[in-house]
Amino acid sequence: MHAVVIGAGVGGLTTAALLAQAGLEVTVLEHHTYPGGCAGTFWHRGFRFDAGATLLAGFEEGGVFRRLEQRLGVRFPVRLLPPGEPLMEVWLPDGRVVVRPVGREEELRAQRAAFGSKVLPFWRWQAERAQALWALAPGLPFPPADLREGLLLLGRGLPWALDQGRQLPGLLTDLVRPIRIHTPPDPGFRRFLEAQLLIASQSDIAHTYALFGAAALDLPHRGPAVPLGGMGAIAETLAQVVQRYGGRVLYRHRAERLWVEGGRVRAVDVALGGRRRGERETFRAEVFVANLTPGDLWALLPQKRPSPPPPDGWGAFVLHAVVPASLVPPGALYRQWAGEGEWVFLSLADPHDPLRSPEGQRVLSASVHTPLAEWQGLDREAYRAKKQAWQARVEGQVERLLPGFREAAQLVLGATPQTYRFYTRRQAGWVGGYPQVHPWRTSSPRTPYPNLWRVGETIFPGQSVPAVALGGERVAALILARLGLAAPFHPALEAKEG
Ligand SMILES: Cc1cc2nc3c(=O)[nH]c(=O)nc-3n(C[C@H](O)[C@H](O)[C@H](O)COP(=O)(O)OP(=O)(O)OC[C@H]3O[C@@H](n4cnc5c(N)ncnc54)[C@H](O)[C@@H]3O)c2cc1C
Repeated sequence: MHAVVIGAGVGGLTTAALLAQAGLEVTVLEHHTYPGGCAGTFWHRGFRFDAGATLLAGFEEGGVFRRLEQRLGVRFPVRLLPPGEPLMEVWLPDGRVVVRPVGREEELRAQRAAFGSKVLPFWRWQAERAQALWALAPGLPFPPADLREGLLLLGRGLPWALDQGRQLPGLLTDLVRPIRIHTPPDPGFRRFLEAQLLIASQSDIAHTYALFGAAALDLPHRGPAVPLGGMGAIAETLAQVVQRYGGRVLYRHRAERLWVEGGRVRAVDVALGGRRRGERETFRAEVFVANLTPGDLWALLPQKRPSPPPPDGWGAFVLHAVVPASLVPPGALYRQWAGEGEWVFLSLADPHDPLRSPEGQRVLSASVHTPLAEWQGLDREAYRAKKQAWQARVEGQVERLLPGFREAAQLVLGATPQTYRFYTRRQAGWVGGYPQVHPWRTSSPRTPYPNLWRVGETIFPGQSVPAVALGGERVAALILARLGLAAPFHPALEAKEG
């Protein structure tokens, strides 16, 4: 049985690794020259830069990467962050720097010191909701893709709902009300939350639904880890697992068209790159998995109408740079500017990782949200001017977090939504999935074809490296169940057993 996976993002590779382990003959087709997509790491002039994602979680006991390590017999190369280590700093407009340490107790102490005791009830609510949700969410088959998943959802959801007792009505209303109503009216605290939610839910506190917000704010307590050699180490490890189980990961292979016959997808046409540019190949298979957004998948199916990114979908502008190590004061690896101007998320390579930070130097990236519409329909000159303007603005913001940056930076590269479009093939450079403004802002891995599935950040549980790995586990389980092959690892079942 042959399975073709289009795209070597973390979602596609997780599915591919599990299918290969279950005995399918797996071929992963990747347009680019390295795996990981938005969570890849690229080399430039001897430095390793993270293309997008920088902050990793999911290594807690029972977390998705721990589970994959056990199942696939592999170790991801990471440094686990111990309780007490400062994970993030949020820089507020009034000059305060609020640290988010690893560990709940440590975080409560930091919050009380920054905002006073009035915020403690909020954090109690957050911890209760997040814990209730984690008890349910791992691998939650939502929205159910078939009858089996519907039964799984009921089988897990009903006992869970009964377990919640008096918490249940509040939990249910938190599915539809914004997190803002739980926050004390302290402008600094709200600004702090706003900054955190923008990177997690892609929306603000007035629109992020409370339950998602509570789970997203739990990030420092969900097994944070620093990937050694950069975020791409996760995808590279998964690609090795695919190969270890006899599968192939073919780079410079861009899927261009899916062939449908008798209501099933039969083959995919691929354009080759590199030394074989101009050549084409067709891959036939019984199962297809697309690690693509809905619009990018529909574009491979000629009979489908194109579907653009959602109007509130975001692009990213990212600055990659190298600075002298002496420029960086001690502190957290992740720093968020929430003062005037653009909100910047600065990620510094781990100083203990020689692959990322050569002697005397530090690699960093700084990302901001940018509206997709700004980057559409520009001619070459207009694009260049816009890129320069954004780069200057973001450099100015980084300067605030890292005084001396502009003068000392040894290498600066800017990436726009067009860059993402080019390297990850994402339509218009849309990244970050659907803003989480209500629980139905997600889509099913199902497609109109019974042997074609979708995986990645536009299926539940959405955006982030651990989230797409969870989605990958779910899609592999769905496929194996459809094929009548044992799928003992459906994450929803495992969470129940655990
Ligand atoms: C700037 C930025 C910062 C982020 N920061 C974080 C963070 O700190 N922590 C975190 O957890 N998450 C972060 N994220 C989100 C995270 O990176 C994504 O949610 C996740 O990596 C998406 O994975 P995916 O499986 O959906 O696939 P993608 O990463 O989109 O990968 C899809 C792959 O498919 C390939 N492909 C596309 N079309 C074709 C085709 N036709 N043929 C062959 N191959 C194709 C692409 O080249 C790509 O490799 C960030 C994202 C961005 C953009």
